[in-house]
Amino acid sequence: MLRVCKFGGSSVAGIDKLQNVANVILQTKEQYDKQYKQNSKTIIVLSAMGGETDGLLQMANNIAKEGKNKNPNKKDLDLLLSTGEMKTCALLSIYLNAIGKKAIAFSASEVKIITSNTHSNAKIQSIQTKRVQKYLDDDYIVIITGFAGVSDDEHKTTTLGRGGSDLSGVALASAFKADICEIYTDVDGIYTADPRVVSKAKMIKEICYDEMLELASAGAKVLQSRSVELAKKCNINIVSRNTFNLNSKGTLITKESNIMEKAIISGVTMDNNQVRVGLYDVIDKPGIAAAIFESLAKEQINVDMIVQTVSTSKLTNLDFTIEAKDMDKTKQVMSQFEQEIGKIDFDGDVSKISIVGVGMKSHTGVACKAFSTMAKADINIRIISTSEIKISMIINRAYAELALNKLHSAYELDSKD
Ligand code: ADP
Ligand code: ASP
Ligand code: MG
Repeated sequence: MLRVCKFGGSSVAGIDKLQNVANVILQTKEQYDKQYKQNSKTIIVLSAMGGETDGLLQMANNIAKEGKNKNPNKKDLDLLLSTGEMKTCALLSIYLNAIGKKAIAFSASEVKIITSNTHSNAKIQSIQTKRVQKYLDDDYIVIITGFAGVSDDEHKTTTLGRGGSDLSGVALASAFKADICEIYTDVDGIYTADPRVVSKAKMIKEICYDEMLELASAGAKVLQSRSVELAKKCNINIVSRNTFNLNSKGTLITKESNIMEKAIISGVTMDNNQVRVGLYDVIDKPGIAAAIFESLAKEQINVDMIVQTVSTSKLTNLDFTIEAKDMDKTKQVMSQFEQEIGKIDFDGDVSKISIVGVGMKSHTGVACKAFSTMAKADINIRIISTSEIKISMIINRAYAELALNKLHSAYELDSKD
């Protein structure tokens, strides 16, 4: 039996917490050994200590802003950011060895987690298993840095995007054909809403990949969305568990057909990382929208929701949302369209609220309930978008928490206790 366990930043934020992680690994290993009546094998993937990646990023930005090229160069930034994970992995291994356990830590480039060379957002291409397998066969606990990789062309250190250790965990589980990928964090599992925002949020026992993917991409940061995508593709069962409460069994993320009880709505999310871009008096002729969105795509700016109002004259209005981190780049791109656009405004004071559930496919009235709940709470909806299993609304940030709690109650997701 082989499992991959990934521990997030909040679980490894300091020496005491790393020692706690070591106990969790040993305690759960004992349970698996008993359950499977064999010596279970363990690969551990760690994040950097909570706040460390942000701190390193800030240092890089501070030192670079003195120069002409105000942004840190991407190659060295990845090298810097990857050190956070190296620190936690080496410390955990040092501790496990000190207490007499067989453990070894490797960086992602020592393992050869091969990626594309797109710094800060690299894609995993392959993982070499031979070296790690030798240590697993010899009953070592193998600890591997999350979030990083090494480029296929020039062997440069790369990183996988924020929250990327979840992706490292799932990719390693797939490469080693692990029986399970356990993702340990600071809450008991996946809830119907962020339990820190909605006090009546309920823990979900099982959830399918598609719903988890929609929750994650709509703002439930408990799992990185790319990791769920990969788990779906490779059919890896994930269990989301609490490092600080092993009594809870956590949430199983698996394929839809494995799930017995299906809820109509599985959860609601809030994403405060969005900016609404309003383009007013845009010349209404074929090709303008294509030119605008092509230019954004060329700069790798992810556009989420798009609404165009029906044009009454030869002019129209276009609203769309982007991630907050892309605001400066978007401003630059838009400056090329001064001739075609009357006025542009950027509104970062918004939240995206989403309702997710596979039951939407077969039940009517789901969207209607969302809009009437917002109306009753006197909350204005700025943009709406829907997919087969998700409804998203852009609203004023000040009402986001209220909206989330009201929707949670309206869809009868509130816990009874
Ligand atoms: P880690 O440091 O382990 O990677 P994260 O901070 O990335 O942890 O993710 C865990 C956090 O995700 C929780 O503390 C919780 O506040 C938040 N969260 C948001 N939405 C949800 C949800 N639907 N279920 C559980 N947690 C959620
Ligand atoms: N340390 C990285 C981050 O903060 C990766 C991770 O924690 O998953 O984004
Ligand atoms: Mg995380």
